[in-house]
Amino acid sequence: MPLYSYSCKTCGSKQEAYSSIDERRNGPKCHGDMQIVIGCNILPDIEPFVAPGTDEFISSRSKRRAFMQKHGLIEVGNEGNPHDR
Ligand SMILES: [Zn+2]
Repeated sequence: MPLYSYSCKTCGSKQEAYSSIDERRNGPKCHGDMQIVIGCNILPDIEPFVAPGTDEFISSRSKRRAFMQKHGLIEVGNEGNPHDR
């Protein structure tokens, strides 16, 4: 059975429960029915860090991408013609 994350529509408290497709509507209850949270498998954002040699604080993938483009850096594993992107 897949594990679903539920969120209370009223107070936002979270809970996880294994449910079959048919049982999803009978999930855990808090202030009434809880809502299934979609997208819990999305990659978390990167750990924030200060870019070496600069004082720039990189706190997200988009900032890291912008920083690398600005400095002409290429991410290992993501090499290729920059004009293709
Ligand atoms: Zn609640």
